[in-house]
Amino acid sequence: MNKIDLEILKLLHKNKNSYLSGQKISDKLNVSRTTIWKHIKDLRNKGYQIESITNKGYSLVDIPDKITAEEIKLGLKTDIIAQEIYVFDSLSSTNEKAKQLAGEGKSGGTVIMAEEQTAGRGRLGRKWYSPPGSGLWCSLLVRPDINPTRAPFLTIVAALALEDALYKIDEEFTIFKDKNDLMIKWPNDILWNDKKICGILSELNADIDKIKYAVIGIGVNVNQDSFPDELEDKAVSLKEISGKKISRNKVAQTLLTVFEKYYKKLLDKDYNQLLLKWKDKLNIIKKNIDVYADDKVYSGEVVDISDKGELVIKDNIGNIHRFWAGDVSLRQ
Ligand code: ADP
Repeated sequence: MNKIDLEILKLLHKNKNSYLSGQKISDKLNVSRTTIWKHIKDLRNKGYQIESITNKGYSLVDIPDKITAEEIKLGLKTDIIAQEIYVFDSLSSTNEKAKQLAGEGKSGGTVIMAEEQTAGRGRLGRKWYSPPGSGLWCSLLVRPDINPTRAPFLTIVAALALEDALYKIDEEFTIFKDKNDLMIKWPNDILWNDKKICGILSELNADIDKIKYAVIGIGVNVNQDSFPDELEDKAVSLKEISGKKISRNKVAQTLLTVFEKYYKKLLDKDYNQLLLKWKDKLNIIKKNIDVYADDKVYSGEVVDISDKGELVIKDNIGNIHRFWAGDVSLRQ
């Protein structure tokens, strides 16, 4: 989108619910009224519903139900994350695209989004269902100057940010009846009443002592009305919970803003604070769980999350096991 389109949009957003005359817009932007008219037409073609009434002017009635970098940037308050945002209609996977762009030298903070992913992934090659037009499928390319052993903190940062972002969106749209219904499931999912709303997939490219880049893939189920049979019991969208259609641009904006807040703590090497906050949210300390890892099942009580972010469990003969990753389920 060009600069004039963007400036017009800003003005129309500011004056939502009222009319702004073509003359006023042309005075403010210092271009002719004909130019304004051309750009309004341009915006309409992009899906913005702009009403015009003779002698009154223009009014923004509705924005396109599409993810656009411009809409996200309009309300974004970040200075590292999302300085560049790339939005695609369709990608095999936003993480794959992010890795490709990382290889081409794109800077840390770059965000990649797609209306749909045709081969969205979860951990261990599992599929992430990412139908068009309904979710937020996005990847953040970051280049943090931290020791690679601290890389699991990227998932922690993303999980904390996602949860906070959902609370913020809830303040605006009233989605959850009870905030306690939300929880972070170690290590990488956000659940609502045991159903997954968001998933995180972090991938790392590092030398032994330096992170070259990391890609944090985030999927948020926003406006799906239903899921395929095999996911119906496991997955849920914000719309299914609230009955309301939620702007994905708004979700993106909120998420990226909050993400940066936690990411800066990571850059400040504030590991302890992040860890304490995460532990507080995890809800599995002292619980009996099964962990599936390396093709084995380990059963025991969760005794701690280590200062590196590992899950620490004690089995029934007193042995301690530590995990970076694995599938966790609570024992009855
Ligand atoms: P896990 O939940 O086993 O940790 P991942 O985090 O790797 O798995 O995510 C992949 C799994 O999430 C899939 O195997 C599937 O069960 C589930 N899933 C796939 N797409 C979605 C979606 N859009 N929303 C919620 N859950 C999904």
